[in-house]
Amino acid sequence: MEHGPGTVLVRYGEIGTKSSKVRSDMERLLRENLESMLAARDVEAAIDHEWSRILLRTDDADNTDAAVAAACDTFGVVSASPARSVDPTSEAICEALVAAAADHPDGATFGVRASRAGSSERHPFSSRDLEIDGGSVVEAETGATVDLDDPDRTYYVECRAEEAFVFTEKRPGPGGLPLGTQGRAVVLLSGGLDSPVAAWEMMKRGCRIVPVYVDLGPYGGVDHQARALSTVGELARYAPDDDLSLRIVPAGPLVETLMAEVGSTRMLSLRRVMLRIGEAVARDVGAHSVVTGESLGQKSSQTGGNLAATDAATSLPVHRPLLTRDKTDIVDQARAIGTFDDSTITVGCEQVAPSHPETNATPAEVAAAEPDDLFDRVETLLDRVEVVTPEETRS
Ligand code: ATP
Ligand code: MG
Repeated sequence: MEHGPGTVLVRYGEIGTKSSKVRSDMERLLRENLESMLAARDVEAAIDHEWSRILLRTDDADNTDAAVAAACDTFGVVSASPARSVDPTSEAICEALVAAAADHPDGATFGVRASRAGSSERHPFSSRDLEIDGGSVVEAETGATVDLDDPDRTYYVECRAEEAFVFTEKRPGPGGLPLGTQGRAVVLLSGGLDSPVAAWEMMKRGCRIVPVYVDLGPYGGVDHQARALSTVGELARYAPDDDLSLRIVPAGPLVETLMAEVGSTRMLSLRRVMLRIGEAVARDVGAHSVVTGESLGQKSSQTGGNLAATDAATSLPVHRPLLTRDKTDIVDQARAIGTFDDSTITVGCEQVAPSHPETNATPAEVAAAEPDDLFDRVETLLDRVEVVTPEETRS
């Protein structure tokens, strides 16, 4: 009987470089996160853990595909392969290669790459033998030409002591570290394109996120808020165990004060208010930092000098994962991770920008132009935070 690929090989990278204690904690978390991801998507698969790799055992092809997709959305996973699992004998491996060659693309060249673990007493063949014998059966089956230097398709064989795997694909995962290994960060989420990508980057490195949207009152809009919420919904797909409710902070009256009382540094004061809001929420939820989607020079408020001036408003670290990224690159990533939205709403902040913005302010200049009670007023906003879960708006 022919068996399709029923096992998923899940590889992880950087975790493997850690000391044994850190490594085993991270591996446990990765396994738990994979379980949650599979459960959230109703994918049936049993999880096995081998040295430096996780195996997902599925019982039908649909589950295998879905398990590969789930693994490739799990932070910490470097790649995943749908594989045939067979006895570690040359005959069984060759049979699996023939089965895998059934969908060999017309005219595609190929190579067989084999590795063998376990003693030569156990396996009376070397990895080289497997490559030669495997190459012959695939050639006989497909009539395709071998190209060892740059094959169109590679047939991989991994022969281990108890089991061998045959596969042709290594689908990339996000890499990074398991979600939950790097504490919690507040993300200032605007409803724009950049901040969800920044949030995803933090998640990728293991950080749980607490999204915060600052409602700018008449200078913002319900559409920004709706978009912030819908991106939170997209991010939640990558963190099925986390509560990604959006905290909405009503800053309209504060923005009106800034509009009335502050000139060329107004936008910077608004940024400072946002960072202070982030800091206050961070205190509340036990987060270690505030994250923004800012990128060096993207806007006048994001010049190197102005970023320094805004940072002075908070004692927490401000993380900017997109600092060195170009917009086109950020847009591509937003599409890839599913947070891109075709709508082209003008972002609220634009309406706050003065016509001649300061591009290189000092912290002292910005602070001097601000109302004295600005940050005290930020504290009072926090009693009126609205917490909305993405699900509530989906129904
Ligand atoms: P984004 O950068 O998210 O695409 P944007 O480009 O419209 O939005 P910017 O003016 O670049 O907004 O804002 C810089 C950063 O400030 C954003 O990346 C986000 O982290 C934060 N931010 C801006 N507006 C808001 C808001 N209304 N609520 C929460 N955070 C905000
Ligand atoms: Mg931006």
